[in-house]
Amino acid sequence: MPVVDVDGLTFTYASGTAPAVRDLRFRIERGEIFGFLGPNGAGKSTTQKLLIGLLRGYRGTVSILGRDLADCKADYYERIGVSFELPNHYLRLTGLENLRYFRTLYRGGTQQPEALLEMVGLGDDGERPVGEYSKGMKTRLGVARALLNDPQLIFLDEPTVGLDPVSRRRIRDLVREMKKAGRTVFLTTHDMTVADELCDHVAFIVNGEIRLVESPRDLKLAHGARTVVMEYDLGGRPGRREFPLDGLGDDADFLDLLRQATVRTLHTQETTLEDVFLRVTGHGLQ
Ligand code: ADP
Ligand code: MG
Repeated sequence: MPVVDVDGLTFTYASGTAPAVRDLRFRIERGEIFGFLGPNGAGKSTTQKLLIGLLRGYRGTVSILGRDLADCKADYYERIGVSFELPNHYLRLTGLENLRYFRTLYRGGTQQPEALLEMVGLGDDGERPVGEYSKGMKTRLGVARALLNDPQLIFLDEPTVGLDPVSRRRIRDLVREMKKAGRTVFLTTHDMTVADELCDHVAFIVNGEIRLVESPRDLKLAHGARTVVMEYDLGGRPGRREFPLDGLGDDADFLDLLRQATVRTLHTQETTLEDVFLRVTGHGLQ
């Protein structure tokens, strides 16, 4: 049974004329990192807010952890972890005090705040007021908070946006560890690298609609150029040639060049997920 099963999910904000998300359909299996990928305004945060029960009054069916979302009560929050796009911490409290406070809201078992801070790289900052934290530190505190109740399913809304490269890497490592621990992760992002590196499946979302759900690897294979580019010197003259990757071992031209020339560089031509997104949706990600 999938951890998340969404069918025909449609939602219109009270102030909106058109639906913010329309007829969404996707499934997330246990232990998978599922990426919701799309430009600003596509409907990613709206979808996360619907799935965590923050927005009500949707059409369609949503089943999460074996239960209809419409029947979920407060105990649902014992089983999920959520990190928001804009973390809502208590700025006058320290990082540790924030985690200790939110910990008291759970009835079930919780993890040690100190250990969680260590895990997100805030081990030395626990005694500082969160008001002094950088944006990246606040985001990492948000991720630590999402893990307090040792949840099976974790929602992360844009966990790497606006972070420096070190913080981004740390978040990426953390998400990988969540998967290793058997957790299921729903991740919204417009960061291609994150989606590509982490996600088992990505949904491309544009203007509130899902255009496709696929694995990044399959997408790149299906849309990729699949060629090898060789730069070489032959008889003192530089040259560059491109060969199809399929059947390369029987490509006489390629093999001759490989034997006779001095190879300078040899690269497969990679299609990025961003190229695929543009090709499939006709939209950029920024
Ligand atoms: P994303 O997270 O992909 O950037 P959002 O889910 O935040 O996109 O927004 C999707 C659409 O819903 C946008 O057109 C946005 O303007 C609209 N929207 C978001 N929040 C609200 C709100 N509280 N009230 C009305 N419209 C909203
Ligand atoms: Mg958003």
